[in-house]
Parts: sequence; C-alpha cells; structure tokens
Amino acid sequence: MKISMIGTGYVGLSTGIGFAVKGNDVVCVDIDREKVEKINQGVSPIYEPLLEDYLKKVLKDGKFRATTDLKEAIEQTEVSFISVGTPSREDGSIDLKYIEEVSRQIGEVLKGKEYHVVVVKSTVVSETTEKVVIPNLEKSSGKKASESFGVCMNPEFLKEGKAMEDFLKPDRVVIGSIDKKSGDVIERLYENFQAPILRTDLKTAEMIKYASNALLAAKVSFSNEIGNICKLLGINVNDVMRGVGLDSRISGKFLRAGCGYGGSCFPKDVDALIRKAKDLGYDPKLLREVHDLNLRQKVRLVEQLESRMGDLKDKTVCVLGLAFKPDSDDIREASSVFIISKLLEKGANVRAYDPKAITNMKKVFPDIEYPENAKEAIKDSDACLIVTEWKEFKNLSEKDFETMKNRIVIEGRKVLDRNKISGFDGICW
Ligand code: NAD
Repeated sequence: MKISMIGTGYVGLSTGIGFAVKGNDVVCVDIDREKVEKINQGVSPIYEPLLEDYLKKVLKDGKFRATTDLKEAIEQTEVSFISVGTPSREDGSIDLKYIEEVSRQIGEVLKGKEYHVVVVKSTVVSETTEKVVIPNLEKSSGKKASESFGVCMNPEFLKEGKAMEDFLKPDRVVIGSIDKKSGDVIERLYENFQAPILRTDLKTAEMIKYASNALLAAKVSFSNEIGNICKLLGINVNDVMRGVGLDSRISGKFLRAGCGYGGSCFPKDVDALIRKAKDLGYDPKLLREVHDLNLRQKVRLVEQLESRMGDLKDKTVCVLGLAFKPDSDDIREASSVFIISKLLEKGANVRAYDPKAITNMKKVFPDIEYPENAKEAIKDSDACLIVTEWKEFKNLSEKDFETMKNRIVIEGRKVLDRNKISGFDGICW
C-alpha cells in the first residue's frame, strides 16, 4: 500500500519505517527540514535501537523517503497517518494545535483526490477525531467523511527504547473507524502482523490508548506507594514486587518502584484524561492520585539526599542517567529534569552523565557539568543519584565509588548489585 506518515518524530519515524519493512511504500512528512534531510541520508534524528539499521535498509530498497511537501505526499498515496505531537497545555489539557493544522492541510489536498483514508495515530482524547479532525477535513476539502474519504483512529502502543520491536510485533492492533470500508483498508495494512486486531468505533479506539497508559502509570504509582511503606519497614520492595508480579493475573511488568515515571506519554496522557473527565463533570480521584504520587516520588529522592547530607549548598552531586528510560535519548518529562532543577535550586553543583541523552539535556541545562563517562562523573563528587537504569551502570564497581569525596549513593532506580557494591541506599529499598 502507498502510505504517507505526517509527523516524523519517535512514533512517525518508527511506524513509517516499520510499514516500509512490511513491504509498503512510505513517504514521511515533516515540517522540520533538517530532520527530513538527515532521514533521507540514512541518519536517524533520534536514538532508538535498530531504527537506523532499518532506515538504511528501507531507503536502499526504495520503499521509504522523507519530504517536507505534504501535498505531494498525500497526492501519491492511498492512506495518510497523522502522527504529530499532542503535548499538554499549562492546565494539563491536550493541545491539539498540530492535529488541527495537519487535518486542515490534509483536507485541502483531499479536494482533488479520489478515495483516501486518513488515520489518526497520535494519542488524542476521546471525541477528538469526531469533533476536531473530521470537521477540519470536511471543511477544508468541501467533501463528506465516509462518502468521499475514510477516517480511522489507530493508536500506537510502542515503547521508546523498543519502538521497532514493538511496532513489528505488537500485542494487539486497535482500529477505530468511521465505517466498515475505512476500517477494512487499515486492517489489510496489518494483515501480516500476526497480532489480534480489535475493530471499534473512533472514540473507543481513542480511549483504549488512554486507559492503557493510565493503567500502566497506575501500576508504577502503586509500586511506589508500596515501596514507600516498605522503606519505613526495612523491607526491600523489589523482592515484594517480584512476589506480586509472579501472579499471572497481575504480571511483573511496570511494577518497579523508583523515582517516578516520565517520558512523553504517561505524564501528559494521565493529565489529559483527568482534564477530559473534569470537563465531563466527573472527578477522577484515582487518576489524580496516580499523577500526584508520581510528582511526590521525584521530590522524595532529593529529600532523601538532604536527610543524609544536610544542606546541599555547594555540594557536588552526580546524577547518573538523564533519559526518561534506558535505550532512549528522550528527556521529555524525565525525572532527571525535575531532580536536577531541585538540586540547582538548593545550590548544589550538578554533574550529569547519560550514555545517549546529553545532547538533549544540554538544551535544558547548558551550564551544568557533563563528564565523559560515569566513572568521571562519580569521581570527587559528594553524592551520587542514579536516576535511569542504564545497563552500563551495572558494571560500576566498588572501586569506582571509592573515588567519591563522600560516599553517599542513592538509587532512584534499581541498578547496583549489593553483593558487589556496599553502602548505597535505594529510594524504596
Ligand atoms: P514528536 O514530538 O517526537 O514528533 C512529532 C513530529 O511532528 C515532529 O517531528 C514535528 O516536527 C512534526 N510536525 C509538527 N507539525 C507538523 C506538520 N504540520 N506537518 C508535518 N509534521 C509536523 O512526537 P512523538 O513522540 O512521535 O509523538 C507523536 C504522537 O504519538 C503523540 O500524540 C504521542 O502522544 C503519541 N505516542 C507517542 C509515543 C512515544 O513513545 N513517543 C508512543 C505512542 C504514542
């Protein structure tokens, strides 16, 4: 099938390349010219395992290209996916400005086009496709949805750090559609994915994505709550959650306690769902607590450091791990950003190291120190906080920590091996 993917970020690029790997002809569209040029040269603008290898392959096979010309891309394709960002507004509600703009632009092109299916892949709150995307498409095309063009909502469930793997082997594919004809087109696209396909209406598909992310966020906040109680009792929460997760009704995934979830999805999606519920006159107490507990958990790590060290003024604190999760360079809403801000506020000197996210972090904190590697970051520091569980931190040895001025090490994520390294503390263990 001929596909255009509009918005070439973490989702658009991974899914665009993924559809090309599956044999489709894909053209990715982005307003960011530099990004488009890089992609066409076979260079991934983001760090994501396997992504660049697949990119090079699909470019070589002639199945994939990128452009800034949305009109030309849509004219030459049968299906267009919208995968632009849907950030939060100040009040936590979803900001649909990119969705609105792109749907108007697509509508313009649909004026002179035969049947085409427009698919919303971005995460949008229920009713967005019906109340924002379709009216924009109809207004600017002068055509009627369902009669002249198809509309689907196909949420994406990939995880950063495993984007290609998740896209190519999804647990399930959800296709919400305005009518059977549009849904059938998108179902054909997923025919060779060997995953269960769930067909729904548009707003159900939108809600499945939010419900999934909210439940995963709740599992993390729940683990943190149990972890905070365990800490008071001198119990290692990691052992507790291992025991809990072995229950097949629960599963051990997303049960790791730590210094809070971050990333471009959970925080904003939980916020947006809370706002949507409030707009409908419903107070989502559980979701509010999931969100608030997550914020408190980030503060806890800094409070724990203060209770060990006292005043942080002029102390050198080394922060290991900046990306919101390992195997990614994404720092959007990362716990590290919040923690570093707090440390700076309290007058500490911060040294930060991450295997992949330093370039992004320098844009947020240009004036802190960025040593070349973890060992150098630890050396001569007064305290060390571990904020992302990168594998390479597991290789740190007792000797590496002996180079610290003051041996205060607190894990915000479980990484270090107690049998090899002594004298560290965990946020919940
Ligand atoms: P992103 O910010 O990384 O990328 C969005 C891209 O859209 C940018 O490259 C931007 O330049 C481009 N863009 C903006 N306006 C445009 C326009 N008018 N025409 C063409 N391109 C335009 O976002 P992302 O992380 O890829 O997320 C995209 C959507 O997918 C969001 O709704 C997000 O919630 C959802 N999602 C994200 C993930 C994830 O792990 N990042 C997972 C599942 C779903």
